[in-house]
Amino acid sequence: MTTRELNARERRIRKLLPRAQDALGLGGWHIELTLHPDAELPASVEHERRILGSYTADWTLRRASIDLALGTAGDCDPPELVLIHELAHIVLHGTRDAFDRLRDQVAPPLFETVRELHCEREELAVRRLARAIVTGLNAYQED
Ligand SMILES: [Zn+2]
Repeated sequence: MTTRELNARERRIRKLLPRAQDALGLGGWHIELTLHPDAELPASVEHERRILGSYTADWTLRRASIDLALGTAGDCDPPELVLIHELAHIVLHGTRDAFDRLRDQVAPPLFETVRELHCEREELAVRRLARAIVTGLNAYQED
């Protein structure tokens, strides 16, 4: 991928972020977006979903960060879809955050088992929602 292509992709992603934030009810959030020119995130970033994107979120402070690999190619999801995917995780992070408040209230093995199931189902839901959201955003853009 050339520098010009990477720059064009970065402009598209930075333009998409506020629009997608509004669409997902995250308009009042401060979201720090870090774009990486490589095809995958550096090893220092905690990986999520084939190392194309990663997020952190604090629902109390309404702050989040997203790391995104820009140089994806081939059969990888495009960075636009990965951005929406991470934003959907941030929306659903509130449920995980609430769930985690049970951590000290139930037996650790039970907590970990149910939390793992919760995370698996969240990932499945996020994948489905991200594709639906991208389809919806594209439909509105055409009008
Ligand atoms: Zn994910």
